[in-house]
Amino acid sequence: MPATKRDRTYTLQEGCPYGSASTAQRFGDQRPVRGLMLLQDTQLIETLAHFSRERIPERTVHAGAVGAWGELEVTHDNSDITSAAFLNGKGKKSKVLWRLSITGPRPGQYETTRDVRGWAMKIFTEQGNQDFVFNSIPTFFIRDPIKFPSMNRSHKVHPSKNAADPNMFWDFHVNNQEGIHALMMLFSNRGIPANVRQLNGYSGHTYKFTREGTDGFVYVKIHFLTDLGAKGLKLAEAKRLGGLQPSLHTVDMHEHIAQGKFPTWTMYAQVMTAEQAENYRWNVFDMTKVWPHKDFPLRPMAKLTLNKNPENYFSDIEQAAFSPSTMVPGIAASLDPMLQARMFAYPDAARYRVGVNYQQLPCNRPVSHVYAPYERDGAMRYMTNYGSDPSYVNSSLVPVQFDSKIGASGYSIGHDEVISGRVAGYASEVTDDDFEQARGMWHVLGKQGPEEQNDFVVNVVDSLQGVVPSLQTGAIAMFKRVEPALGKAIADALGVN
Ligand code: NDP
Repeated sequence: MPATKRDRTYTLQEGCPYGSASTAQRFGDQRPVRGLMLLQDTQLIETLAHFSRERIPERTVHAGAVGAWGELEVTHDNSDITSAAFLNGKGKKSKVLWRLSITGPRPGQYETTRDVRGWAMKIFTEQGNQDFVFNSIPTFFIRDPIKFPSMNRSHKVHPSKNAADPNMFWDFHVNNQEGIHALMMLFSNRGIPANVRQLNGYSGHTYKFTREGTDGFVYVKIHFLTDLGAKGLKLAEAKRLGGLQPSLHTVDMHEHIAQGKFPTWTMYAQVMTAEQAENYRWNVFDMTKVWPHKDFPLRPMAKLTLNKNPENYFSDIEQAAFSPSTMVPGIAASLDPMLQARMFAYPDAARYRVGVNYQQLPCNRPVSHVYAPYERDGAMRYMTNYGSDPSYVNSSLVPVQFDSKIGASGYSIGHDEVISGRVAGYASEVTDDDFEQARGMWHVLGKQGPEEQNDFVVNVVDSLQGVVPSLQTGAIAMFKRVEPALGKAIADALGVN
């Protein structure tokens, strides 16, 4: 049964009724399979021309994805930390669009591959859209945004081979070792999720939660933990499954939702005051670090349920655009430089990829009132384009009402945070501190059993075995800084002294 009732009487694109969708006009006699095709055949020209244009630019990263619709339900009283309407009032539900992507590989490459997954959510609230653009691990490979394109390219294809290249991957990481904590997660078995129902989503970044009517704020890290338990694949099994069904994760997710077996996640926050952050062992704006649970326990807030497959992948998921800059009152950016840079880069990518009016598309359009008449026209503008309303600010002929403090003179979304300093170039340096939490991850794996640590070595060795000796040695030295026994196990398995 078709999901939507629609009139299926065939026409050309501009509405002309047409008697066949599979004939073409030609000049010649009636003998089969020969003839000169005619330029006057609008149907043939339109069909071919549209086919050549049916792709929009692929995302540079996170191009391959699975998506679903769902809802976020508030399960706890969160009013002491945020006034965001969608997080307040137990039982309150908001519609969600969710997109789970592989970062490096192109769409169609096998999904049981080792890669960080992008976890993107658009929550449609009465105060506008809230986007969470998270990852499947709580840390990241870099903390200096200038490295973002380099890091991503090193995980993608080699410029001449046009295939992934472990030399490039390890060349980047051996020479940018702030990523060691994220590498520890990537090369654990969770680095290849068993399916996308059993993985977690983490903000990685520190955000602020704010409350209407107060100047204070708290720092938060947000976690969506799967209620099914996180599950990864052993390397050999992942390779076998990927060979059998490249689209394993997409198919699994689609089938579970179609069968009414809806996956759920619990949304948690770790909460820290500004004062605690000032005195904390870890820099809360450094996204290569976590806040240990024992210092800042997980506080449950809401439940996410994915319960509807996209009706059409292109219109619901491919055209969807998520950005860390899309925030509602009650949530604000922190001083994390990666977050600051992503707040520019993501909408910029959407303007290029989908078009300057991408927010008007049904998959992106807020369910709340929108009035932004100083952004006008542009490619593919539809709806009313604000009719004859002034396209300039401060009109007394057609006055505009303002009912929010956000952005008003003297009012900062960052609340009572004072920043001072001087303008200067900066690049972070790698120190022993960067290895401490990575070591913590190694011990977490140890607590899960010797097999998890052994598998970690197997996973790293699988990636390093074809790499040039200088990078093998560099990687071994890097893992020795995590734990000498780990570096030695990798060296032994590679046969490198
Ligand atoms: P805990 O000792 O309290 O718990 C360890 C956490 O490790 C678990 O809660 C689980 O996170 C996570 N974990 C287990 N296996 C894996 C894996 N294969 N890949 C990624 N994460 C995994 O943690 P602490 O907070 O004391 O931190 C110790 C170390 O645990 C950290 O250095 C960090 O590497 C890692 N970790 C910490 C997280 C945090 O937010 N504090 C989150 C994830 C990892 P979860 O419950 O989120 O599944």
